[in-house]
Amino acid sequence: MKIAVGGIHTECSTSSPVLMKVEDFRVFRGPDLLGADYFSFLNADGIDHLPLLHARAVPGGPVSRAAYDAFKSEFLERLKASLPMDGLYLAMHGAMNVEGMDDAEGDWISAARAVVGDHVVIAASYDLHGNVSQKIIDQLDIFAAYRTAPHIDVRETMVRAWSMLVAALKSGTRPGIAWVPVPVLLPGERTSTEDEPARSLYATLPEHDKTDGVLDANLMIGYVWADEPRATACAVVTATDRQAARTAVKAIAQSHWDAREAFRFGPVTGPLDEMLEIAAKTETRPIILADSGDNPTGGGVGDRGDVLQALIERGWQDAVVGGICDPEGVAACFAAGEGAELTLTIGGRLDPASPSVETTVTVKQLDDPGPPEERQAVVVTGGITVILAARRRPYHNIADFTRFGIEPEAVRLLVVKSGYLSPELAPISNPNLMALTDGVINQDIEALPSSRRVQPIYPFVKGFDFTPEVRYSSRWQDS
Ligand SMILES: [Zn+2]
Repeated sequence: MKIAVGGIHTECSTSSPVLMKVEDFRVFRGPDLLGADYFSFLNADGIDHLPLLHARAVPGGPVSRAAYDAFKSEFLERLKASLPMDGLYLAMHGAMNVEGMDDAEGDWISAARAVVGDHVVIAASYDLHGNVSQKIIDQLDIFAAYRTAPHIDVRETMVRAWSMLVAALKSGTRPGIAWVPVPVLLPGERTSTEDEPARSLYATLPEHDKTDGVLDANLMIGYVWADEPRATACAVVTATDRQAARTAVKAIAQSHWDAREAFRFGPVTGPLDEMLEIAAKTETRPIILADSGDNPTGGGVGDRGDVLQALIERGWQDAVVGGICDPEGVAACFAAGEGAELTLTIGGRLDPASPSVETTVTVKQLDDPGPPEERQAVVVTGGITVILAARRRPYHNIADFTRFGIEPEAVRLLVVKSGYLSPELAPISNPNLMALTDGVINQDIEALPSSRRVQPIYPFVKGFDFTPEVRYSSRWQDS
């Protein structure tokens, strides 16, 4: 039997003016896809895997129409060339926004369905921050999403989706999908599965899986920074029995609705000034301060200089800012050389609305792994060390710092552009503070412009009633 494999994976803030281009994506095509560690679980007796195209980018602004069209047409060409097949596995994120298009995943998955026809079983894995629509559900037979945020079950989720597909092909059983949109839209930082109430809500999902007739139960938080009609939380269940699916999906939807007012930020959270006051009085280290409005892994631009400005004004010593996207700054440092002193305007290079800060720095270290976009420069201004990056990227791993001889645990104040901390940084933070900074993924979501989200949706609107209404994939006929 044959399973084709591909997809597109990114998350897009509709408030960001910085469009994603083809070069922002890491692309696997053909044999490289099957050789990638990301897909190394694709191995089952009697199954041939046919690699198509998989494109993945760090979250950001909307994907340019040209980039989307290029990826989609190559994906579809490869899909057509791989016919006939029995199954299709799509590794998606679910919160992509494309210039001038609503429901980009709906477009992608529908186009795939049109190529392969009705008889092929299609499975998709999603990020729990994806936004689902009826159009998407109507094209799919199998759905599975992450159950952890921070995401430490990425591979496990992909294996869940793919394993259900393999089992369906081998047994001849055709699963179906039931879902319930829940009019709640909260940021990931208030719905981390490390904290209540999300921890308990997600703990019920494996219990639902054990019910006869249910294969895989999911709770989607959705993606709040996309002002688009499909943005919503939802419960999604893959099942072989409609009644069992109905019971499970209603219960999950109701539990999320009932918990809506209980979601809180996990760490000590507040305005930047307040967080820096707390930091100044803190004796332990490392204080890890999350600059939440500019977090590139949530769709933030990552080029804002306002936290650096605040540290300079306060004369902070023994602080590390990792990092700020500033391609021009990196180029200037490379031109000046290590040890040089120069005046830089740091920040505001990608988004004209991002604040910048002019300061004199010493170039401490240059990092040139090859491609110009991978370059980094470490500069020092006063008691503050700043890592500048030529491209938008997170600094969420210990190795991002030790690469420059910086031991995060030894630093007094480590500033990262992050929401909830990554699995590597969270355990060493002592303490973790989250600053409610400005940016295209501002955490003050009730104040976000909301002209296209379908209302009422909590917390944009409060004080309305909700009764779960179960919807099925149009592919799942009554039996
Ligand atoms: Zn996510």
